[in-house]
Amino acid sequence: MSDQIPWKTIESGPYDYRQALHPVVVKNYGQWKRHEIPKPGVLKHIARSGDVLYTVRAGTPRQNSVDLVRQLCDLADQYADGYLRFTVRNNVEFMTADESNVESLIQGLETIGLPVGGIGPCVTNLAHTQGWLHCDIPATDASGVVKSVMDNLFDYFTGWRLPAKVRISTSCCAINCGGQADIAIIVKHTRPPRINHELLADMCELPKVVARCPVAAIRPTVVNGRQSLMVDHAKCMYCGACFGACPAMEINHPEHSKIGIWVGGKNSNARSRPAMGCLVAQNLPNNPPRWPEVNEVVGRIIEVYAKEGKRWERLGEWIDRVGWKHFFEATGLVFEKDMIDTYRHARTTFNQSTHIRF
Ligand code: SF4
Ligand code: SF4
Repeated sequence: MSDQIPWKTIESGPYDYRQALHPVVVKNYGQWKRHEIPKPGVLKHIARSGDVLYTVRAGTPRQNSVDLVRQLCDLADQYADGYLRFTVRNNVEFMTADESNVESLIQGLETIGLPVGGIGPCVTNLAHTQGWLHCDIPATDASGVVKSVMDNLFDYFTGWRLPAKVRISTSCCAINCGGQADIAIIVKHTRPPRINHELLADMCELPKVVARCPVAAIRPTVVNGRQSLMVDHAKCMYCGACFGACPAMEINHPEHSKIGIWVGGKNSNARSRPAMGCLVAQNLPNNPPRWPEVNEVVGRIIEVYAKEGKRWERLGEWIDRVGWKHFFEATGLVFEKDMIDTYRHARTTFNQSTHIRF
């Protein structure tokens, strides 16, 4: 055993995040006393040691050019001790211990075309799924939807016009990212997959595709003497999970892949427990380049919530208070019977929060 060379792992993942922390964060790690939000897009953290750290946040389009990244790095060198970070919602954040840098950072960011905001009672930058750039199953390009929705809600990002923060997410397919937010914009297929039997026999692992279906709608069959698959249309719920495993079962369609809007989802435990969203608008056309129908619905929901929500009441909490009947009346959205959740196997006792209960 002694002459064996010990196994050495090659670490090719992301490097240790601690190397990227601002020195004031390193010094006060886990020792923060409180924070304030002096203005939209600015956070002030106060540590137990008495240190103060300002954060300035700006929205980015997510797919950033090298030129833009260089401009951001210049700003970081000038006003933030050479440090910046990107958030999961594609914001860029700069930290500085010097209050006089805050206005310079805001001006610098606005000069290169990035809006400062997204902190406090406002719309945060949209959670943005991959779309055509990286993923193999999108029915639409999330970037386009995000651009058109954020253009429409620009003033809600840069100003405090809402009762509480509103998180919006997009999803370019029906099954994976982007599902849970105050307002979730989600692709919804309306037809079963179209099977290309020639391709399927050559390129897909049949048992894997059969196992992929959550409602057991896929069965083995033989077509033109070759092993293939069939879909039981009465069972299929058009989720598109099989397409992820087998490109020969294409479900995306320019006309029949629609967009649905879900509201009231919440991940945090603040004030009320996390909640699942509910469908409130469906069969909206996937209509590039500006998705007017989607924008119309999102705009209506935001407008009514801005008017009726109480301070710090999240969108789902507002709906819980006023009731679904009032929600549909006030927004003018049409309630359809498919929007009722009749899933028989859900239980009301699911532990949906980290609150301790007995
Ligand atoms: S939402 Fe679906 S299509 Fe879009 S990136 Fe995620 S998995 Fe891919
Ligand atoms: S779309 Fe979903 S439900 Fe329909 S066959 Fe494929 S995996 Fe099954």
